[in-house]
Amino acid sequence: QTFKDIMKKVESGEDLTKDEITYLLKVEGESELKALFETADRMRKEIVGDIVEVRAAIEFSNYCNKSCHYCGIRNGCTVPTRYRMTEDEIMEGVHELHRVGIKTVVLQSGEDDYYTLEVLIKLIKRIKRETKMGITLSVGERSYEEYKALKEAGANNYLLKIETTNPDIFKFIHPDDDLEYRRQCAQWLKELGYVNASGNMIGLPGQRAEDIAEDILFYKEMGIHMIGIGPFIPAAGTPFEKYPQGSVEMTLKAVAVTRLVCKNVFIPATTALASVDPDGQKKALQAGANSLMLISTPPKYRSNYQIYSNKNMIDLDSAVKAIHDAGRKLPKYLKLDNNQQEE
Ligand code: SAM
Ligand code: SF4
Repeated sequence: QTFKDIMKKVESGEDLTKDEITYLLKVEGESELKALFETADRMRKEIVGDIVEVRAAIEFSNYCNKSCHYCGIRNGCTVPTRYRMTEDEIMEGVHELHRVGIKTVVLQSGEDDYYTLEVLIKLIKRIKRETKMGITLSVGERSYEEYKALKEAGANNYLLKIETTNPDIFKFIHPDDDLEYRRQCAQWLKELGYVNASGNMIGLPGQRAEDIAEDILFYKEMGIHMIGIGPFIPAAGTPFEKYPQGSVEMTLKAVAVTRLVCKNVFIPATTALASVDPDGQKKALQAGANSLMLISTPPKYRSNYQIYSNKNMIDLDSAVKAIHDAGRKLPKYLKLDNNQQEE
């Protein structure tokens, strides 16, 4: 089979096999790469259009019970300061986002028992009452009952990345976690009717193109709605601090192939990509991606949420720039200064 045969299959709408997905992920020739990215970009335009959805994350606590080997806020890692935002502090951030028209707030933290189910439910209800914004939770692995209670309280989306579907790599990078339980969580989130967000890291130790192909098939089979793909970036003070960073090109290929395979999904141009390449988000937007996430953690806490070294702080201005540079449209709901609006 050649590249052309596989791309013909893509055009005809036929499903790709794992071998075909792997083949595309291994493409290296300049003309083939160009064709891959252009096809993904065209499919993105046909399926989800030109508007880039903008969400914003408030990273409300950097305490974590777990010790994922790659993560810069893992338990056991020396972080300058551990912090927990109060409900009022979080609400202040939420209102600021609401004022600029952002429709969805992503509440993210380490796995921190301080925010019990009761605390989270109270917060979710307050956000709904005061702003009616969409809420994405990204607070890790929980029980079915907890996911259910959070959904009933008003959470709309849940972001829990599978990170990798390769059982050996998953085990090697997660001393506290089990791949089967992570899959179970994704299944529960789906059953509960969450907008189900997942994702993987590119360039994990021992990861091959075949493994990334499996990750993409997992998204398709699980019916994942939002897929965040970012390079692994070594974080100072972690067991993986000396490991090589994941490749930008492989990340972009994974974004493109995910668009070809999963079709009608949200694919963010990730902060991790922006952190390793100043044009990373623009490149991802031109290779199949259609959303962006701002980092809206208050400035005084931000530098303590270094999940990897040199994390880029995507604010509204840099997001608007990436969207314009990629030749795409800002969502109408954003209330920007006049000089940021499109002509
Ligand atoms: N504790 C929650 C969890 O693990 O799902 C949410 C916070 S966790 C910091 C959010 C994401 O950060 C993870 O899903 C992981 O993909 C990403 N991350 C952590 N360390 C990273 C690294 N060194 N390079 C790239 N991504 C990383
Ligand atoms: Fe904790 Fe999430 Fe980091 Fe793992 S990835 S150590 S669960 S914050």
